[in-house]
Amino acid sequence: MKKIFIMNLGTTSFKFKLYHVDGENMDVRASGEIESVGAEMSRWQYASADGHSQSGACPIPDHGAGFTLFLDILQRDGLLTGLQDLNAVGYKAVHGGSLSGTRLVDDELIAEMERVTPLAPAHNPIYLSAMKSIRRDYPELTQVARFETSFHATIPDCRTTYGVPYAWREEFGIRKYGFHGSSHEYIARTMKKLQPDARRVITCHLGGSSSICAILDGKSIATTMGATLQSGLFNNNRVGDFEPFCLPMLMEKLNCSMEDVLAILSKQSGLLGLSGVSNDLRLVLEAAEGGNAQAQLAVDTLIDNILGYIGMYIAYLGGLDALVFTGGIGLNSDVVRSRVCEKLAYLGLALDSDANNGRTDGCISTADSKVSVWRLKTDEESIVAQNVCSMLQ
Ligand code: ADP
Repeated sequence: MKKIFIMNLGTTSFKFKLYHVDGENMDVRASGEIESVGAEMSRWQYASADGHSQSGACPIPDHGAGFTLFLDILQRDGLLTGLQDLNAVGYKAVHGGSLSGTRLVDDELIAEMERVTPLAPAHNPIYLSAMKSIRRDYPELTQVARFETSFHATIPDCRTTYGVPYAWREEFGIRKYGFHGSSHEYIARTMKKLQPDARRVITCHLGGSSSICAILDGKSIATTMGATLQSGLFNNNRVGDFEPFCLPMLMEKLNCSMEDVLAILSKQSGLLGLSGVSNDLRLVLEAAEGGNAQAQLAVDTLIDNILGYIGMYIAYLGGLDALVFTGGIGLNSDVVRSRVCEKLAYLGLALDSDANNGRTDGCISTADSKVSVWRLKTDEESIVAQNVCSMLQ
């Protein structure tokens, strides 16, 4: 039996799950999270599968300190006898550039993550900082990274290549990588169990950050994000696909630097920028219902964007057997699901409106629908844990 500590890190957030893995069996024995890492006071909470829960507030200066906090708690709670009892820590790491898959955290991996940090500036530095501090404080501990790009390694070259000078791809790694790999992989594996004959699947991970993936026989063959997490779908506060030749004009009109324009495109655009209301779809939908035309346009643009990618992916897949919605929006917004699905009626796809309006995960299409539609909760950490275990074996 292996004990694996999986970390999912945000700029100021820290989430972990402790897995016990025994062959095919995986149990989450404890989980916890920290809010406001690096602030004067950070809040943390912890819960074990045995029902022990604790919470508190204290200064937690960085993600490495967050790991130490939970390591102590796990020992006091009897779930670990010491550091030697932990087989590995695993990271849901984001951009590994030319390195994909599941890999030991070593000098080569750190150097490559540093090299591609300009392509994932909000994510790679946090993971690098945690990896380095855990390496320093616990040098005997095995650290493993599963990159969010990994599931997309099967996408054909013609679909990961931009129409730019060939040398850019070779020398600088300017190509599409795709992200949210753990979520799309989880859905692909789940669909294999739920509907084994569904060879052509499209997964819509719609949330704070969104992407769509086309899956053929369990493998990713296309996804919406590119070299960075910024491109692809129109997101809550990110622009998604955009025209780079507008940048000089925007810099001139707004009298600001390239960095400033990029900050607007990545933080104040998407639903937020277009609606002028919020980056939360619930509030934008409410405003649209109240007659706010900009909010209505933002909702219509989001739906249209999702639909356009689904159409493209149906062409790549040569048809569609199953369509899956996940992520905060995918799971909770019956409006998004029904508006997208009504445009796919030409495929013989029919939503069961009671199931779509309900709260239960599972199939939400009618029994005679030609394409099944699902609403499934994703579980990214379990995919990281499974891959870390396979690598250790
Ligand atoms: P993250 O990508 O940060 O993990 P989530 O996948 O949890 O985020 O998704 C969060 C988003 O889900 C929120 O920004 C909100 O817009 C959206 N959301 C949650 N519930 C609903 C709902 N009932 N209707 C529409 N959108 C929702």
